[in-house]
Amino acid sequence: MKKILLTLTLILIFSANVAQAFEIDYLKGGKSEELMQKVGYRILNANKIPYRTNFLLVKKSQINAGTSCRTKSIVLYDTTLRYLNTEDELAAILAHEISHLVDLNQGAFKGQFSCFTQSFAPKKYEFKADKRAVDYLVNAGYHPVSEIIVLNKITDQPRYDWYLSHPLGSKRMMAIYEYIYNKYPQYLVENPYKDNAVYQNFLLTSRDNRKKLQEKVKANSNKQINYL
Ligand SMILES: [Zn+2]
Repeated sequence: MKKILLTLTLILIFSANVAQAFEIDYLKGGKSEELMQKVGYRILNANKIPYRTNFLLVKKSQINAGTSCRTKSIVLYDTTLRYLNTEDELAAILAHEISHLVDLNQGAFKGQFSCFTQSFAPKKYEFKADKRAVDYLVNAGYHPVSEIIVLNKITDQPRYDWYLSHPLGSKRMMAIYEYIYNKYPQYLVENPYKDNAVYQNFLLTSRDNRKKLQEKVKANSNKQINYL
């Protein structure tokens, strides 16, 4: 009897978590490279991006992702996977890198000039890549709020950003939020991430800035806004 009860309890616990656990195991287990390729090519195809790349998972102890200026490969350091919980979140990182890929293929000298400007004005390109990633995610059927969730987990928050190559995480998250707010408000109304602890933390830390945004939008339109 005791054994049956224990088995029953285990089945119940297991089935309650099975959906979420599957996704996380897939991402963190041996199949993460396969998933990276599936997600990466899905974003490229859904957005009709005509540039070749490949997706490589590299063993490194840092959190990072990048698009190579020379080979155009998109590289993800495997330690980053420890901080991702859903396919949406992996898609958010790849969509950002695909945006860099697009810039690296455009402009003078087969994109060589873009490669040069991206190295010398990285902040401008980071904001651009973040916003364009929102469009890519939406077009590929992923939830764009995942970009905010990923950045909240992997970016740090030093006091100043003038000496950094990338803008502060808080500025990037707020710019993404504003872009979604203006262009895709339905994703904030029907937001499956609204109870996610990481997203809740973003809402808390961005409260003043979101209030300012709401006032700015209200002043310029008669729309009734209640999704902040
Ligand atoms: Zn970037």
